[in-house]
Amino acid sequence: MTDRSIRKIVIVGGGTAGWMAAAAFARLLDVRSIDITLIESDEIGTVGVGEATIPPIIAYNNMIGINEDEFLAATRGTFKLGIEFVDWGAVGDRYFHPFGPHGQDFQGVHFHQLYLRESRRRELPAIDHWSMSAAAAALGRYARPAPGAPLPLSQLAYAFHFDAGLYAQFLRGIAERDGVLRVEGKIVDATLDGHSGKVGDVVLANGRKIAGDLFIDCSGFRGLLIEEKLKTGYESWNHWLPCDRALAVPSRYPGQPDPFTRSTARSAGWQWRIPLQHRMGNGLVYSSAHLSDADAQEVLLGNLEGEALAEPRRLSFQAGRRRLAWNANVVSLGLSSGFVEPLESTSIHLIQSGIVKLLALFPDKRFNPVERDEYNRQMQEVFEDVRDFIILHYKVTRRDDSDFWKHCRTMDIPDSLERKLELWRAKGRLFREGRELFGTASWVAVLLGQGEIPDDHEPPADALDEAMIADALDKMRVSYRRMAEHMPMHGDFVASACAQAEASANA
Ligand SMILES: Cc1cc2nc3c(=O)[nH]c(=O)nc-3n(C[C@H](O)[C@H](O)[C@H](O)COP(=O)(O)OP(=O)(O)OC[C@H]3O[C@@H](n4cnc5c(N)ncnc54)[C@H](O)[C@@H]3O)c2cc1C
Repeated sequence: MTDRSIRKIVIVGGGTAGWMAAAAFARLLDVRSIDITLIESDEIGTVGVGEATIPPIIAYNNMIGINEDEFLAATRGTFKLGIEFVDWGAVGDRYFHPFGPHGQDFQGVHFHQLYLRESRRRELPAIDHWSMSAAAAALGRYARPAPGAPLPLSQLAYAFHFDAGLYAQFLRGIAERDGVLRVEGKIVDATLDGHSGKVGDVVLANGRKIAGDLFIDCSGFRGLLIEEKLKTGYESWNHWLPCDRALAVPSRYPGQPDPFTRSTARSAGWQWRIPLQHRMGNGLVYSSAHLSDADAQEVLLGNLEGEALAEPRRLSFQAGRRRLAWNANVVSLGLSSGFVEPLESTSIHLIQSGIVKLLALFPDKRFNPVERDEYNRQMQEVFEDVRDFIILHYKVTRRDDSDFWKHCRTMDIPDSLERKLELWRAKGRLFREGRELFGTASWVAVLLGQGEIPDDHEPPADALDEAMIADALDKMRVSYRRMAEHMPMHGDFVASACAQAEASANA
């Protein structure tokens, strides 16, 4: 610690972003010399959605020492093995985007290339038959792979579904135990230093001022500091992602929870279905230019499997990102930094990614622009990565049954995505290019799942022995199914994990 070290961090907002940041900072920074204060307003509340995640969340849990069973029990969570997409490529189509790889690569040739080659010789089932996570999901089963588990179980990758309110509460418990000070109150203003352009303090409705060296803006869509005070600007992606509204509603759900999210395409958007222990989370994401709010409500409520447990909650948003995630001494995390619709459950990951990058580039009071610029460059890359993957789902479709889908399939797309699609269409080539999210298996799942079959495969796939490849594919497929058949039912596994958590809490 020097005189230049950051001494006071003020987190503005206590939704998922605020409490994820608070819990991580309290665990990973030296709280003996850094005060961390989180301000949240009960009157304003949180967005109240955000209940499906992707596998990197396990790294966040490990980073702050969360016990997985306690976490599931506290958040009424379930496991997620991937997403089932219904009616996306065409009405009546169905495919699974699993977590983890498809099959095994052979002599440096990607598995999907072998699959493409073999499927020219004989009809094969969908590629998700060669995924451990998809095989378990198809049977409603789950088993947690222990470290060092043998193949194919070691290929099972998972994330979680959880109750958003309970998740924030759970993280709050951790953060407060680790020394974070929570202040309840509504911020009505912030003081800007005219000389440095930095935020000096925030002012609460009761007149109290809270000063800080570093402010983390987790205030939701409005961006209380990053936008309302610093006027950072927003880059809209609405022309590529026309959905700008959502309706969310919980419903009753008896029986075993499925270990996957379902996304069903509708005439002007899509509907999510997220199974938790105590209820189903549902929502419709739609384009207000193509569907009225009243019709959206009818679509959502008309497609619930069980009785609605509340009035639908309406949310408006614009796809895009804050031009600078970090501006002056304010770093925005969560909805205040931008938003891409939850089709692949990426927002919570973007919060995690921002936290990890900020810790790696943690400033001192001088706020070296090199650190800030690097943070902004990296966050831009990860946001654009997510953006392209989401646009892919809309672009690669044969649907033309509504103006919405006609618009999506004919719209221009970012050059970065166009390039990727051209490489795929020729010979099924995919390059990860150092990007952190959505590897080959994810792109393959969506591209093949939505009917985008390449014209050819890579030449090295032809060099491998035909009979050996055919035999290996058949054996692999059987091994995934057999392994899945021996797993417990997902609901039973969750119940036993929660019982264990309770038993150790009472011990
Ligand atoms: C329809 C929809 C579905 C989603 N589904 C998913 C999903 O499945 N998976 C996923 O990863 N993400 C999802 N997300 C995104 C996810 O919900 C958010 O990333 C996450 O909840 C973080 O929100 P937040 O904390 O940034 O904002 P919020 O939850 O809005 O929290 C903002 C906080 O700031 C406080 N605040 C605001 N103004 C003031 C003020 N003046 N004074 C004091 N406090 C203030 C509020 O009280 C609140 O505590 C979804 C989002 C939407 C819109």
